[in-house]
Amino acid sequence: MSEFRRDPLKDTWVITKNFRIRQPREFFVDREQVTITCCPFCPGQEAKTPPEVFAVRPKGMDANGPNWQVRVVPNKFPILRIEGELNPQHDGLHSCLQGIGAHEVIIETPDHHSSLAQLNLGETTAVMQAYRARLLDLRQDKRFRYLQIFKNHGVEAGAPLPHSHSQIMALPITPPLLRNELNACREHFLREQRCLICDLIAQEMADGRRVVLNDGQFLVVAPYASCFPFELWILPLLHNHDFAQQSDQQLAACASALQDALRRLYNLLEDPPYNFILHTAPPEWPRPGHPDFWTTLAQDYHWHIVLVPRLNHIAGFEWGSGFFINPQPPEDAARFLRDANPTLNF
Ligand SMILES: [Zn+2]
Ligand SMILES: [Zn+2]
Ligand SMILES: [Zn+2]
Repeated sequence: MSEFRRDPLKDTWVITKNFRIRQPREFFVDREQVTITCCPFCPGQEAKTPPEVFAVRPKGMDANGPNWQVRVVPNKFPILRIEGELNPQHDGLHSCLQGIGAHEVIIETPDHHSSLAQLNLGETTAVMQAYRARLLDLRQDKRFRYLQIFKNHGVEAGAPLPHSHSQIMALPITPPLLRNELNACREHFLREQRCLICDLIAQEMADGRRVVLNDGQFLVVAPYASCFPFELWILPLLHNHDFAQQSDQQLAACASALQDALRRLYNLLEDPPYNFILHTAPPEWPRPGHPDFWTTLAQDYHWHIVLVPRLNHIAGFEWGSGFFINPQPPEDAARFLRDANPTLNF
């Protein structure tokens, strides 16, 4: 079982894994990569994963067989487990919770060699539909405060398995990054009676220097205070707080904007490792002690995707201060990306 442990100085939490004792040599940085001879995400290998919780496949085809287009399975080696109670414990200044949650893998394509940027629009839209289906299902569990969808592409971005996939973690604690963002949006709304992200979209569209793409439904922008070179935000122009409420048409538009951004990055930076993270509203269950939570969420929050190529390492200063040093102004990143080829060229 893993544990959430709270750091009282940083006011944040760490997930501690203690499934087995790891020898120090397992942490050596230059240890050999494990070579996977038989990919568990490939069609025909369905028995190598836990039974699927969602799949897109033709009607009448059996679950857990081949012929799927997108497949969602619980992680075989989950960081968090769905069974059990949170069982909060306190020891002086130290607090911990049991590592309760869910950890699922969204296998985005049956093709072992295709990356997300190479899928067609229908295939990418099906991935978005899988995200929506899992959010709608997992949010019924009242233990979960936040559902985090993210993707790691490339070994440097945390994806040792090459078969294209993303992940969802259902968490019993709202991640501090999201909590800060939710609070900032709520405070802006209470002050201005307007959505902070709608205001940001209007300002970026009027300015134009950091805009990579505006296709009439989504804005792709290099944020003003980008932490990393070529960081991008993918922002729906239509205000809505909740990714899970999006229509098929809106998900197709999201898939199109995401594909455009991924292909520009691929062509400009030669298939960089990257992460993306979906920022969407938390499940709106009443929170004891917080009667004011979520009362304005539908008006004050605005879902979006954060896409970060992993081109540089986080060093001592960033680690120690929380300030990022970005060697590239986002105005330059946006200019290069506007000029980059947005079509499939590989
Ligand atoms: Zn594979
Ligand atoms: Zn908005
Ligand atoms: Zn955000």
